[in-house]
Amino acid sequence: MNTKKNYKILIAEDEESLAMLIDYNLIKDGYQTNIVKDGELVLSECQSFNPDLILLDWMLPNISGIELCRRLRTQKKYNNVPIIMITAMGEEGDKIRGLETGADDYITKPFSFPELLARIQAVLRRSNLSKGQNIIKVGDITINRDEYRVLRDGISLSLGPTEFRLLNCLIEHPNMVFSREKLLDNVWGVDNINVEIRTVDVHIGRLRKALSIEGKKDPIRTVRSAGYSLEQNF
Ligand code: CA
Repeated sequence: MNTKKNYKILIAEDEESLAMLIDYNLIKDGYQTNIVKDGELVLSECQSFNPDLILLDWMLPNISGIELCRRLRTQKKYNNVPIIMITAMGEEGDKIRGLETGADDYITKPFSFPELLARIQAVLRRSNLSKGQNIIKVGDITINRDEYRVLRDGISLSLGPTEFRLLNCLIEHPNMVFSREKLLDNVWGVDNINVEIRTVDVHIGRLRKALSIEGKKDPIRTVRSAGYSLEQNF
């Protein structure tokens, strides 16, 4: 078992045999995978699987790979997720268009698996380098997304997973007020239908408690009937 990579790769490919082969090779190389065969399902699969990289076939049923690439790039949550487009021979002319749409790389069918793995590694490496901002600091609060660590004024705090995700969301836009609905979507994801809106208040309360240290002000602002924000200058 290869434990050095915990990356999740979404394989969006409608050719069953190819998808299975890619899947097999990626798993063997230590990646976690998911296969999606329909363009229409790619976005929802991204929501639930949260991939670190997407292998996106150019020609997918219902929504094409290029259109998906364009849509993913317009969404804040996914605009940093690396995309490798899979093109067939003869579609090379479209490669440029793919890269313009926001793909990070492309690979032409038929390809060898060592080549695919090398490209995946290169793209992930580049993306990790450019993601140097995996540490975000707002006021005296620092969040390290790679290490799941939160510090306040240099003191390490202990947050539950939901509180961590809440903070992670709020810290993205300091001072901006997030509605409870928006927080539900961002933190609880698409499966939030059964989550009551009041749940957000409960977890905000827990987050406040987790962030409170002596002599420091509450960094979370409640805006009546609007929502919550993390204040930059508190
Ligand atoms: Ca295809």
